[in-house]
Amino acid sequence: MRYAVLGAGMAGLTAAHRLAVEGHEVDVYERWPGLGGEAATLDTGDGVLLERYYHHLFTSDHHIAGLCDEIGLPDVLERWPSSVAMFAEGELHPFTSPLDLLRYKPLSLWSRIRLGMAVVLLQKRGRAVEPYEPITIRAWVERNMGREVYAKLWGPLLRGKFGDRADQISMSWLWAKLHNRRQTTGEEARQELLVYPKGTFETIFVRLRDRIEERGGRVLIDRPAARVTRDGDGFLVTAGVPDSFRRGFDPREFEPAGAPERYDGVVAALPSDIFEELLDPALAAEIGAEYLGKLHSIEYFAALCVVLELDREFHPYYWTNVADADLRFIGLIEQTNLVPRERYGGRRFLYIANYLPRDDGLLDLDLDEVMEVYEPGLRKVNPAFSSEWIRNAWLFKDPAAQPVVLPNYRDRMPALQTPARGLMLANTTQVYPDDRGTNYAVEIGERAVRELLDR
Ligand SMILES: Cc1cc2nc3c(=O)[nH]c(=O)nc-3n(C[C@H](O)[C@H](O)[C@H](O)COP(=O)(O)OP(=O)(O)OC[C@H]3O[C@@H](n4cnc5c(N)ncnc54)[C@H](O)[C@@H]3O)c2cc1C
Repeated sequence: MRYAVLGAGMAGLTAAHRLAVEGHEVDVYERWPGLGGEAATLDTGDGVLLERYYHHLFTSDHHIAGLCDEIGLPDVLERWPSSVAMFAEGELHPFTSPLDLLRYKPLSLWSRIRLGMAVVLLQKRGRAVEPYEPITIRAWVERNMGREVYAKLWGPLLRGKFGDRADQISMSWLWAKLHNRRQTTGEEARQELLVYPKGTFETIFVRLRDRIEERGGRVLIDRPAARVTRDGDGFLVTAGVPDSFRRGFDPREFEPAGAPERYDGVVAALPSDIFEELLDPALAAEIGAEYLGKLHSIEYFAALCVVLELDREFHPYYWTNVADADLRFIGLIEQTNLVPRERYGGRRFLYIANYLPRDDGLLDLDLDEVMEVYEPGLRKVNPAFSSEWIRNAWLFKDPAAQPVVLPNYRDRMPALQTPARGLMLANTTQVYPDDRGTNYAVEIGERAVRELLDR
């Protein structure tokens, strides 16, 4: 059979690899002139690659580890000790170990004890997500950890990620975060280890592409899908011309590149709004209002990410959460405090992280304007910081970075098999109760192919 996969992110490449392994003919269409989607890299100069958006894995991320073994990269995932801080009340507070939590000054001692006990109890006892689905994090935390813990810790962290939706986020989101990272034995009981692929995530994407192509598949970058139409039992995919990405994200703006190609099935591994924009009206009608309504009911927050190359260390941590509304960003991720800078030719990189509603004005600014907004905050964290430390800077924006997980999210979640038989959707809105991540993109890419081939 002949299949099209739309999107060469982790989900799309995984799906295409599986289809090729199963002996099918497969074409991957990708809008961007590179592989990897949200985990794609940039060349910072001299061939030194770095993800455009900070990325690491957890030791519990088994789907991606299994895939790496399968594609002949058994040693690609390296482990590094993590160091985490919280910036609150004008100070950096270490937040890596349970002991750090007990010493966390912004909370009263009683709140710290309640927080620690509730996390351990949830990790040990709360094995099923269902009881947590209908309630908000706010309600659960205030009941089980106390109001102060929400007001001073979870509330500011959630506001960073979900803006004014913070108080509405489902407890299932926090359940998944705390549950998946549970590791109370072995080396990690003392020190959390994070995982990062040797040579960046690009190593995995390139190997997947090579495996697909060795089996006769095609991975077509800078060749977006512009239209998907029903054709008997199958589908027609019309590609857009090269450079279409310069016209933005909406495929209806892409100029068609010649005649459409026919496929027996399609795996759309791209955001839900783009998926809908790709559909020919008759195919949209076949899919129907109920399914499309589910897609509309899930809001995405955008990511705004600045990458700085600095001439010195900014702060001593890998990951700093910002729990201070005066700072206009939500996190600082100093890549070279996780992966040694020798891996980057001795250079140092710092990400400044933000998640915003899609209509937030910050998303309209250019790099210099964003830095003007951020610099006072950077100086609050490190008063010595000066723009003279910056050797290079880049700005990236992704409109579909984070699905907003409201209570009873499961009821909104679209199935992988759309009502049009043979047309699958596989994206970050469907990995619930897990939060979006490359590990779950692998899992959903695999699952979409299983369901497609089982039909
Ligand atoms: C700021 C940020 C930080 C993150 N941190 C981590 C982390 O630390 N660890 C982790 O595991 N995950 C992290 N993630 C999440 C992770 O990157 C994603 O969950 C994962 O990469 C999603 O893969 P995907 O294939 O489902 O989607 P995507 O990566 O979004 O891939 C979709 C692909 O479709 C392409 N496309 C769009 N339109 C078209 C079209 N018309 N035709 C063809 N192709 C099209 C896009 O260019 C893209 O390549 C982070 C994400 C962000 C934004």
